[in-house]
Amino acid sequence: VQETTAENAKDMPPKCSVALTHADRIYWPEAGITKAKLADYYLKVWPLVAPFIVHRPLALLRCPEGISGACFFQKHAWRGMSKAIRQVDDPKERGDEHYVAIDDLDGLFGLVQGGVLEIHPWGSTLDAWEKPDMVNMDLDPGPDVSWESVIEAAQEVRGRLADMGLTGFVKTTGGKGLHVVAPLKPKTEWPAVKAAMKAIADAMASDSPDRYVATVSKAKRKGKILVDYLRNGRGATAVAPYSPRAREGAPVSMPLTWEELTATIGPAHFTIANIGSRLAQLAADPWKDFRAAQAVLSY
Ligand code: ATP
Ligand code: MN
Ligand code: MN
Repeated sequence: VQETTAENAKDMPPKCSVALTHADRIYWPEAGITKAKLADYYLKVWPLVAPFIVHRPLALLRCPEGISGACFFQKHAWRGMSKAIRQVDDPKERGDEHYVAIDDLDGLFGLVQGGVLEIHPWGSTLDAWEKPDMVNMDLDPGPDVSWESVIEAAQEVRGRLADMGLTGFVKTTGGKGLHVVAPLKPKTEWPAVKAAMKAIADAMASDSPDRYVATVSKAKRKGKILVDYLRNGRGATAVAPYSPRAREGAPVSMPLTWEELTATIGPAHFTIANIGSRLAQLAADPWKDFRAAQAVLSY
């Protein structure tokens, strides 16, 4: 049996043997999304989402009673967790707590069964915990920031990543902002990667102090965008492309082409409910060149 990796995940057959119990449990009441509908969503996007969630440590937002019940952010394995979910150990940590990872669609259905509504992977894979294969610049608009300004910020990040030899890809978050993600060859360790992303955030804040801030604490954020580079540390996570959000309307974090990034597509434009029309309208995966664009950070 071939082992699943982040690289070959999308080619693995979508076998599925995890049974969902209480499949009609409602996870997003207003949107009418049940556990079964969440599983159905993942069946549709599996080849697209697999490279971002398979074979990586995962942090998970679990809401066993749906978004109107209690939700908790969880980094470790839990009692009663599906056997289809793998337990993995951080090579730098000794202890009783195990991280979780998935290998296949069964694992993903195990997460659905466990009430996981959001998937937040590390930016490195189980093959190289210390060397990320992607960076994520998280753009967080404060109050009174126009959506056009957030788009401009993403374009500026794209240009600054290009100056470091990296290709930026953009996605909505399903929340308020945007994420610009760039694939890396896993050659550089976390501290150097984080330093490079901090340099981008600092440069943006010093070149345009009226528009950008690079630190949460200093931030008088009204009217400004926080360029949150802290997603790029060891153990930090960002919501996965195609992950739903535990928010009203069941929005998803949706990869876009740069051409699509216009004012008509807001941060929560795409949802579990409209995924069918999204996939039907797509001529190709908007991030189809993601893996081919992997580069070594030059900073
Ligand atoms: P938005 O566009 O609304 O900012 P977002 O997903 O970028 O959506 P942030 O608040 O900016 O939300 O958080 C960025 C990332 O930090 C999240 O995607 C998540 O992976 C991580 N994160 C969020 N909450 C927690 C938490 N309680 N503990 C650890 N990490 C978290
Ligand atoms: Mn954010
Ligand atoms: Mn943030």
